[in-house]
Parts: sequence; C-alpha cells; structure tokens
Amino acid sequence: MGVFEFDTIPKYYEDIVDIAPIGIITFDYLENILIINQQMAFYLNSSPKELVGKNIKAVLGYLNPEILIIIDAVKNKTSIFKEFFSLKFKDKEQFFNIKGSVLPEQGLLIFENVTSIKEYQDQLKSLDQSKDEFISIASHDLRTPITAIRGYLDMVLKEEVGVIATPKMKEYLELARSGSLRLNDLVQDILSVSRIEQKRMRFNLKNVELEPVIENLVKQTQIEAQQKNVNLEFIYPKSKLPLVQIDQNRFTEVLANLIGNALKFTPRGSVIIKTILRNDHVRIDCIDTGIGIAFDKQKQVFKKFFQLDSSTSSQNKGTGLGLYICKMITEKMGGRIGVSSAPQKGSDFFFTIPISGTPLAKRTLEIIQQEAQNHVDQK
Ligand code: ADP
Repeated sequence: MGVFEFDTIPKYYEDIVDIAPIGIITFDYLENILIINQQMAFYLNSSPKELVGKNIKAVLGYLNPEILIIIDAVKNKTSIFKEFFSLKFKDKEQFFNIKGSVLPEQGLLIFENVTSIKEYQDQLKSLDQSKDEFISIASHDLRTPITAIRGYLDMVLKEEVGVIATPKMKEYLELARSGSLRLNDLVQDILSVSRIEQKRMRFNLKNVELEPVIENLVKQTQIEAQQKNVNLEFIYPKSKLPLVQIDQNRFTEVLANLIGNALKFTPRGSVIIKTILRNDHVRIDCIDTGIGIAFDKQKQVFKKFFQLDSSTSSQNKGTGLGLYICKMITEKMGGRIGVSSAPQKGSDFFFTIPISGTPLAKRTLEIIQQEAQNHVDQK
C-alpha cells in the first residue's frame, strides 16, 4: 500500500483506501505518485510498492494520452469529471468514470470501472435499434395485406360479386370491415410513432396562411359531424393572422386528430375551432361539449397507448397513439399541446405554432435542419 506522508492520519484510513473497490491515486505537483491503492495497482498489473514515487504521466499516459490533460487540469487546480473514459489495457479496452480533484499540495484521481455498465448500455441500444427496425418493417409489410382485405370486403359488401344471402352475413362482414379499418389505423399510427421516434419523420416547414388550412379541413370533416348530429364550426379570427411556420400536412394531421377525437367523444352538442394570436405564436383550440376528461387523467392522455376505459366503448376504440403523435409533431414544429376539460362538460384541446420570422420560428427551423443533416450524415 502507498505510504501516507502524514502521521496524523489514522492507520485504518489507509486500509479503507486500500480495500476500496475503486482505483485511487494521489500525486504531488512534481507529478510523483504519493498514494496508490491496491485496486488501481491491480488495473495497472503492478503493486502499490512498485508504483509509489514514479511519474504519474509515465504510469498512466500509455493507457490513453488524453489522461495527460486530466492530470494537467488537476495540477492547474481544476476539478474534472469524465464519463466512460476509455483506457486501453494490454488485454482489452475498459471504461472508467474518472474524477480529478484538487487536495492541499496534491492532486487526487479516482477511477471507477464502468465497463460492464457501458457494455450493458451498448447492448440495450442495439436491442432498441433492432426493435425499432422490426416494428417499422413489420408494420410496412402489414399494410399490403390489410389493404387487400379492406378492398375485398368492400367489394363483397357492395354486392359487386354477388348477393349477401342473410342479414347475419352482412352483419359479420361489416364487423370484419370495421376490424380491418381499425387494424389499418393501428398500423399507420405505429409507423408514424416509429418514424418520429427514430427521427425519420421529415418536416417541411413553410410560411403559411393559417385560416384557409383550417377552413378546408373543417369543410372536409363536416359530413362526419353531420352524420353524428354535432355542430362543427370554425370561428374565423376577427383580424387576419400573421403567417405561421408549419409543415402544412403535419399541422393538418394534428388538427384532424383533435377534431376526430372531439367528434368521437361528443355524443351531442358542438365542436368549435378557434384561434388566438399570442406574442410569438398562434394557439388553436378545438373545443367540444362532450364527455370530458377527469383532471387527474388530463396529462396522461398524451402518453403512448393511453386510453380511458370508460370512454372507449368497443366501437369508439382507437389506438391510444393519436394524442401522443400530436404531441410529438407539435413539439417538433416548435409548439406545445395541452387540454383543459371537465367531466360531462367537454374538453378544450389546444396547441400552439410559431409565427413566421420570430426567434421561436428561427430556432425551430434550425433544429429541424440540424436533425435532417444528422440523418443524412448517418446514412
Ligand atoms: P384514441 O385512438 O384512443 O383516440 P388518443 O391518443 O387520440 O387515442 O386519445 C387517448 C384517449 O384520450 C382517448 O382514448 C380518450 O379516452 C381520451 N380523449 C381524447 N380526446 C378526447 C376528447 N375530445 N374528449 C374526451 N376524451 C378524449
């Protein structure tokens, strides 16, 4: 064990340092090793006795030249911490968290071996990647047969290939068709989630006039609202909105999802869309008079696969991914999403988008461009 220079330090301190399962070295400002414990000597395939008094840079430098920078930092009285620092020993590379501290008249280096954690992390990362790849390939491959099933069921139901003999047959075919539609939605949603999570979803941000985009979508959704006897309306802003910076298709996807949910969970009454102009963003509200959401569940509705039991009768059943996708898309476009709601009174789902040319819009554009560039670099 290394020799302690100070007689005042109790003997058992020396033992504690010696048996600690981390590597410990102290050195003076002439770079001589003062103390080195068993564990550190073990890493270096030597003994403390042999190493005390040697030049620390000579002892450690060959493991990774960058360690000289750490030693110099401590010599210059700067504490330093490096995570997953690679040291190349004779037999294999190992990873250490290294802490360099400044003590009176000497420097201290602590080496915590984190090789097994690093290997575990790498394994997890590669498992995660294979899982993502599997999901995206599987969902891609599922799309073709689902489309075929839907197409053929449609033909049969329209009696294009013969008469449906009994009402029961018709009922079962319709159930099969609605099942295939649900499956289709699920696969689409899973594909979107995997695209966003793997940062493969592209955003084509443009400066856009918002009012016509909302108006068109509301027009397209009118039939669905009328079938449900729900009044769907876009309240036009009193004065013209400034241009906003959005990917128009993704924006439409978010708002369509919110309107779709509002119609789904509003047995009677209305769904109103309105906009509010704020400092650097526009807020879009989708307000319904439906079943509402209890306060303690309101944050959770944006989580993956979250569905409220009471609100999802089998015919209403979605995928539980819609709002999660909306949140991810909105945040990518530089906005936020939220809800305020009261059970049996209705819900107000809102999200924000940046006004073109604002610092918020510029920052968002930079991040999106950077991500697209990283994606190209990775390929
Ligand atoms: P789903 O595919 O189930 O609609 P979402 O992520 O879109 O998935 O929604 C998650 C859950 O949030 C829904 O199952 C429902 O319980 C609740 N929810 C969403 N929108 C509304 C709404 N407008 N009114 C009441 N509950 C809602």
